[in-house]
Amino acid sequence: MEKTDLIVIGAGPGGYRAAEYAAKQGLKVTIFEAGEVGGTCLNVGCIPTKTYVHSATFEEARQRMTTVIPQLRAGVEGILSHPNITLIREKASFVDTHTVCSLSGDAVAAKNIIIATGSETKWLPIKGVDTDPRVVDSTGLLQLETLPKRLAIIGAGVIGMEFASVFRRFGSEVTVIEYLKECLPALDSDIAKRLRKLMEKQGITFKMKTAVQDLADIDADVILMATGRKPRTEGYTDVDENFMVSDGVYAIGDVNGLQMLAHAAEMQAVRAVNHILGRTDNIRFDVMPAAIFTTPEAACVGPTEDQLKTATASNGSPVGYTCRKAFWRANGKALAMNEPEGMLKLFASEPDGRLLGCHAYGAHAADIVQEVSVLICRETTIGQLRDMIHIHPTLGEVLSAACSQ
Ligand code: FAD
Repeated sequence: MEKTDLIVIGAGPGGYRAAEYAAKQGLKVTIFEAGEVGGTCLNVGCIPTKTYVHSATFEEARQRMTTVIPQLRAGVEGILSHPNITLIREKASFVDTHTVCSLSGDAVAAKNIIIATGSETKWLPIKGVDTDPRVVDSTGLLQLETLPKRLAIIGAGVIGMEFASVFRRFGSEVTVIEYLKECLPALDSDIAKRLRKLMEKQGITFKMKTAVQDLADIDADVILMATGRKPRTEGYTDVDENFMVSDGVYAIGDVNGLQMLAHAAEMQAVRAVNHILGRTDNIRFDVMPAAIFTTPEAACVGPTEDQLKTATASNGSPVGYTCRKAFWRANGKALAMNEPEGMLKLFASEPDGRLLGCHAYGAHAADIVQEVSVLICRETTIGQLRDMIHIHPTLGEVLSAACSQ
């Protein structure tokens, strides 16, 4: 039986990053991929959806997908052609805890195994879900060849909101049906509400606090099920701080269910490989920025204000915090760009002023939040941020405006 240093199962952002990093550090790696390299993110997730966001029409989006995805996939194939990496394009199964085999029977053994098998759509068990031909998940929606006249979306999470925004812009009549009272639960509720109201003005209908019982009740040509994702392989959600499930076996990315984001998967890969190599790192998994690519976009890092209101310090007393706000309509660059819609909330702890988080919606909100995310990792205070010079005119000046209140 063939032996290697590291087996990686799945070549999405978690898996291919793990293979690339380990190979560059001198480990021999065998990586298995049952589908296309690049995983959900490149083939049916981040990249196709963002290609849609940055295309003017549905037809243009579909056309651009045929060039963007193969181009990026070729990039991943290039990464995996490293001399220390063997790519086996087959589904892998465990023979025992340190041996994996493919369907055609190739068995490979290694001291260390990284499971990076990703996630799949969580289908709500509602009437009609198995029989109604109108219902699709995000992958199915991306395969549509004609623009639906009426699109209903069940779920106002990230995937639901991004598709609502883009399909409305392409010209579909869009209705979003959500069980909770507000969209995007990870986003500060003030910001989420403002974004939802703006999307209503753009012509999207929201039915909040509504539980769908039967798909037959929904009046639409296509119904998108956007009620979340679940790990593709069960039993790997109990990981330690190095994403290890048992001795030498690691589970990274969506499969551990911790932070279902491509950049989280990549950095978890780095941590797991560092652990294998006996190295320590300073990756801050508690500072995980995230963005929602609606028009305009929204982004966040750190707690929401609702979470801060109820947070308690280690001594049991409430956490003191301040909230500073700034608005896109008071920013020269935003007005010059004709993007006046947007608001930012910046949180800092009291009394020491340490930055805790930032939630925002507005043009390029993700770039603004990214800056705060970096500053949080550097333990920066709001006073220090106030003293940092931002180029004029830029959207980044909204942070100076928030600090100067
Ligand atoms: P995956 O990318 O899912 O890769 C897992 C791979 O493992 C797959 O290629 C699969 O074929 C393979 N595999 C599974 N089982 C086996 C097996 N037994 N043997 C061999 N291979 C196997 N995240 C962001 O950060 N930003 C975004 O803008 C964003 N947009 C998204 C939009 C949509 C519509 C969706 C669905 C997701 C989006 N995500 C986004 C989430 C992102 O795609 C995932 O967090 C990311 O792909 C997780 O990476 P991963 O490596 O854990 O898993």
